[in-house]
Amino acid sequence: MKKINLIQTGGTIAMSRSEGKTILDSDRWTQTLYKEIPELKTIAHIHPDQLFLEDSSDITPAHWEALTYHIRKQQDHFDGFVILHGTDTMAYTASALSYSLLGLDKPVILTGSQVPMSMLRSDAKRNLVNAVEVSTLPIPEVAICFHDTVFRGNRTSKMSISDFNAFESPNFPPLIKIGLHMEINEDLLLKSHNPAPNSLSTDTRDPKYSLFSDRVFVLKLFPGLSSDLLMSVPFHKTEVIVLEAFGSGNFPTKSQTSILPFLEEASKRNILVIITSQAPFDSVDLSNYESGQLAHKLGVISARDMTIEAAVTKSMFLLARPKGKDKFREYFSTSIAGEISN
Ligand code: ASP
Repeated sequence: MKKINLIQTGGTIAMSRSEGKTILDSDRWTQTLYKEIPELKTIAHIHPDQLFLEDSSDITPAHWEALTYHIRKQQDHFDGFVILHGTDTMAYTASALSYSLLGLDKPVILTGSQVPMSMLRSDAKRNLVNAVEVSTLPIPEVAICFHDTVFRGNRTSKMSISDFNAFESPNFPPLIKIGLHMEINEDLLLKSHNPAPNSLSTDTRDPKYSLFSDRVFVLKLFPGLSSDLLMSVPFHKTEVIVLEAFGSGNFPTKSQTSILPFLEEASKRNILVIITSQAPFDSVDLSNYESGQLAHKLGVISARDMTIEAAVTKSMFLLARPKGKDKFREYFSTSIAGEISN
């Protein structure tokens, strides 16, 4: 049987109902695990670890680092890893790990649930059994397994607050559909032995540097956003601004609310601006309309069909390995972990 490391990090899947409240209960989760799902032992040798126990809204890049170094340290002892995680920021963690674990070559499967494991009609059992089974397969990916579907982690976003079918991978087909059989979309899987470019590798720990930079800022446009407010973003603390624009990457260019002065200021200060879209499906295309063409001239980068989660965490990851703005542009615009279509 395969050896799987089951890493608990918190979220609803680790919570219990107590006195009418849903709470994280660190002592109870392993007991609940085997009481509720004895079948797990028949799928793999499972070694549970608890790295931390957080509602996923409290997850930070420090938690991504802890996960990265734990997995790097254990990589020779296990055939695969399953991470139990809250659904709210699961797509951010999956995206971040897809970069920080580049070249790992083993399955890292994130899952969670909408309803705590010990409750009637919980989706935890199904998600966990599926995730453990998937982690025994030769899938060299950081993936999210939820509601009978396995998505590439850095292509996925949380789309529903309460539906069991909570995740979607808007611009990339699922890697696996789980029904009577596992239908694996072999052609889509990342090729194993895909080594990380040397300059991006994180397989040895350097305590001097963090794995993710905190100099990334996200801005969402809306009709009427005042340019005064825009000009007051903390430029001096920022190296990358991810701008969630409209449609194919459009933004206002006329009168009071034009954001062109803001883009000019960012360019003058050598801050990189990345344009993503508020529409999750399809790809940003800056050549489509006049605003995009102007942005392009100012050196703005298109996130094309990346999710916001993949774009933000990729920016944090690339900034933390300072190779200059040109290298940033080059790596940002090419796929390093399957996060963007060519
Ligand atoms: N608030 C929870 C979390 O993300 C929600 C969940 O797990 O579904 O930690």
